[in-house]
Amino acid sequence: MKIGIIDADLIGRKKHRFPNLVCEKISGYWKEKGAEVYLLMDYNLPDFFDYVYIAKVFTDTPVPDFINKLIGKKDNPNEKVKIGGTGFYFDKAPNLPAEIEHHMPDYHLYDEWIKNEVSRACKEAEQKGKVFNKSKFMTQFKEYTDYSIGFITRGCFRKCKFCVNQKFDHVFVHSPLREFLDPSRKKLCFLDDNFLGCPQWKSLLEEIISTGRQFKFKQGLDERLLTEEKCRMLFNSKYDGDFTFAFDNISDYELIHEKLKMIRKYNQKKSVKFYVLVGFESTDAKDIENAFKRVELLLCYRCLPYIMRYMDKNNTPWKQSKYRALYVTIARWCNQPSIIKKMSFRDFCEANQALHKNKNTLCSAMKSMVDFENEYPEIAARYFDIRFGEDNLNITK
Ligand code: SF4
Repeated sequence: MKIGIIDADLIGRKKHRFPNLVCEKISGYWKEKGAEVYLLMDYNLPDFFDYVYIAKVFTDTPVPDFINKLIGKKDNPNEKVKIGGTGFYFDKAPNLPAEIEHHMPDYHLYDEWIKNEVSRACKEAEQKGKVFNKSKFMTQFKEYTDYSIGFITRGCFRKCKFCVNQKFDHVFVHSPLREFLDPSRKKLCFLDDNFLGCPQWKSLLEEIISTGRQFKFKQGLDERLLTEEKCRMLFNSKYDGDFTFAFDNISDYELIHEKLKMIRKYNQKKSVKFYVLVGFESTDAKDIENAFKRVELLLCYRCLPYIMRYMDKNNTPWKQSKYRALYVTIARWCNQPSIIKKMSFRDFCEANQALHKNKNTLCSAMKSMVDFENEYPEIAARYFDIRFGEDNLNITK
């Protein structure tokens, strides 16, 4: 048997650097059956493959038209091409068969591709007369090389309207650690939707901690569910990198404020990041104000906001907004930790203007700020000068 696997995000997204777990599980399943498995880097789909699996996670990853036309066709056993993933089906993505879903991932599916990337970069450096730093170059592949990856739990009960996780109304135990833990890999990466919402979170977290490995929850954790006990365990663990949460709704402001106090009590050292969803409920001045209000609270607690501009498979509302350039500027300000830690929004726009070649015109960042300030001076006065770590809200009193 010959099996082809296409990770559509790898082909279609230039900077994409995260293994597709479904592709790795399919590869592991077929390799165990003695099949030859190939990671394909184009859509030529030669006839000698018995099956070609195509998976994608992101809805906006481009794929050839003939692939899109196959979406939704009934699964025909004679059909060679199998398509799956939220990138194609959004919240209606069919489940994998249990024997694949619960198979040990093939963590070596991407080895050849990584090897090729390294030799390409090495040659490029040689041609330019530069020294090739392999270990630095390899850091971009760390999720392919250093981590065991899986879902300890699945499901979420919140059913946020903007989220693909609509299938379930509770969180449940999905894969035991041993199902995807490769003892040769020093770290763990979990893709759980809402781990803290699982009734068995405590015993699961104890098991994770007992492996002695660094671990992270790639999709973030639900800070609204934090308790003193959860904080104690989490913030004393070997967590890998930043703790990541989400502050999607302004209506959660008071609750998040309470949880931020709790986070600060148990965590003084580690960086804490919050996704801040914008452009979902509206794309007007109210949405901009709500974004700044959430950012302000986070900055007061020395947390890093990360602006997520809402999009689904058909729409990208912020792009149609009259504040399109402002959304871009806010995201550029917030999503670069080294910038937001040092600059207010106004500083950032002024710094952009200083670098602008044509001094007689305003750069896009500056123009977006000035236009909004002229229209809504009170909002600008309230938020454009806030700074990371400044106690604007008198939270220490
Ligand atoms: S809490 Fe997170 S995982 Fe659950 S529905 Fe909302 S966004 Fe999705």
